[in-house]
Amino acid sequence: METLSIDIFPQTDLKKSGNRPYVIAGPCSAESQEQVLATARALDQMTDVQVFRAGVWKPRTRPNTFEGVGAPALKWLQQVQQETRLAVAVEVANAAHVELALEHGMDVLWVGARTTVNPFSVQDVADALKGVDIPVWVKNPVNPDLQLWIGALERISKAGIRRLGAIHRGFTSEQKSAYRNAPKWQVAVELKRLLPEIPVICDPSHIAGDGGLVRELAQKAMDLAMSGLMIEVHPDPARAMSDAKQQIVPSDLEQLLAGLKIRKENGRGYSADDELGRLRQRSNAIDYELLETLARRMDVVRDIGRYKKRNNLTILQVKRWDEVLQDRLEKAGEIGLDRHLVETIYQLLHSHAIKLQSEVMNEED
Ligand code: PEP
Ligand code: MN
Repeated sequence: METLSIDIFPQTDLKKSGNRPYVIAGPCSAESQEQVLATARALDQMTDVQVFRAGVWKPRTRPNTFEGVGAPALKWLQQVQQETRLAVAVEVANAAHVELALEHGMDVLWVGARTTVNPFSVQDVADALKGVDIPVWVKNPVNPDLQLWIGALERISKAGIRRLGAIHRGFTSEQKSAYRNAPKWQVAVELKRLLPEIPVICDPSHIAGDGGLVRELAQKAMDLAMSGLMIEVHPDPARAMSDAKQQIVPSDLEQLLAGLKIRKENGRGYSADDELGRLRQRSNAIDYELLETLARRMDVVRDIGRYKKRNNLTILQVKRWDEVLQDRLEKAGEIGLDRHLVETIYQLLHSHAIKLQSEVMNEED
């Protein structure tokens, strides 16, 4: 991976007590002064909640749907600042949004998933942020493109924003699932690996698309050592003007937060003196055996390739491949291995074997 042009500074804004998550909560959209204030007052009682969120400009899939109240709603958020201890956050998608949000003294900004996909829009937001010191959270793009996510973080960072964070909100997927957006947790995990200083929080509401599934996703995010959560909360979700199905009522958020199991990310586990350390040493040793076995397997694949070349046989022998796959899946079942895991591994092995044998075919004699 090339060097990243991100100036990373600690997110001083992550005021959380101990291991508790940093929580941003509030309605998908600011709809009315009453709705905003009623929600904010309820959230003000929950110590984990640090920031009140509300969408003011809404990126809707189709026109002629509710596209947000716009600038007048910023006044309601100012009231939240006055009446509660909560900071307030809005989504910005262009320079005009940034200017209005800053003029109205918003505390935190976020870039939405449909903006992160477009470098022109992200650059427009970044240019409007030059010289401003405000925390900015960048949601993942709707497509699972880690480079696009990193690129957006870089653009905002280059504008001089130092309090930068990332929000994992899942990805559009063709595959049918109970969730509105596929979590693809490994994309967020890879972002954490590449940019360990950037806090990553999870938005289980937009992953779930269903209020009943938010809790399990929030717990999963905690188990993946994410720094916090962004959760959509509405006093009367059924009547919400956007994302009605996925919003939860304040008392449900309170229960969700109270029920979260927060585990330690680190601690022991790196020496032979403790159980986790010993288990990790065992798994390291098995990994080396696996890699050596794999190297031997690929040597045989090359020998088979040479045989096929000498005997003028095609690389792909579809009947043999089907037999191998069925046989290994059966074996996997017998020894208690997950079939999906084994199938994924064999699909990869087979496509790599074809690549190796093509190389062999093309070798000069
Ligand atoms: C939102 O937070 O309401 C929103 C529009 O989310 P996303 O950008 O994740 O779709
Ligand atoms: Mn929403």
